Amino acid sequence: MDKEQLLKQIEEECRKAELPLKERATNLVFGKGRADVKIIFVGEAPGKNEDLQGKPFVGAAGKNLDKLLKEVGASLEEVYIANILKYRPPENRAPLPDEIKAHTPWLIEQIKIIKPEVVCSLGNYATKFFLAGLNCEGMEKQPGITGVHGKIKEIEFGGWKFKLIPLFHPAAIIYNRNLMGLWEKDMNIVKKEIGRRSITEEKAEKKEEQERLFSFGCL
Ligand code: URA
Repeated sequence: MDKEQLLKQIEEECRKAELPLKERATNLVFGKGRADVKIIFVGEAPGKNEDLQGKPFVGAAGKNLDKLLKEVGASLEEVYIANILKYRPPENRAPLPDEIKAHTPWLIEQIKIIKPEVVCSLGNYATKFFLAGLNCEGMEKQPGITGVHGKIKEIEFGGWKFKLIPLFHPAAIIYNRNLMGLWEKDMNIVKKEIGRRSITEEKAEKKEEQERLFSFGCL
């Protein structure tokens, strides 16, 4: 089974699972994007629009995120995006510890399949979850987003290493335009990571092409 099929399979398993918040929600909001991406973004929880459409970041915060990504030459199409919670909390209240505990094993499954090189955590909840080593128990002790945004941290998990880049939540930027300058600085860090990776890929492609031409006697 390829990554795409595996993701679909666990999405179906998650749909059947008994999870807190499921009863009041309209739809499961599992994740969206291609399974072969190198970067994933992780937000907090679905809002009203996400709940209605069954997709993360389709409301105001999503529009802002897409706009902010475009500014660094990326788009939501090129990343995978998921949330800490898979169902909308009533009135968009903050996630509760028991809900995080019950929902995050599904996020961990997504990460195990995609094996991203970079994870951008959006806001406090996602950042604390990753800083705690993908463990909800240690979240309380972690620093808040204001102290750690834009600081890259290597995280090792289940034999897999990735770079965590904590970012302000795009909804926070809608409400506090003063964060815009900091967000731009942080996105430059993400841009460098994306750029570095695409340069490496370009080099690998060129090498492959040269080897191919060489094997055909063209070089
Ligand atoms: N905010 C989030 O954290 N996630 C969404 O999917 C939408 C808004």
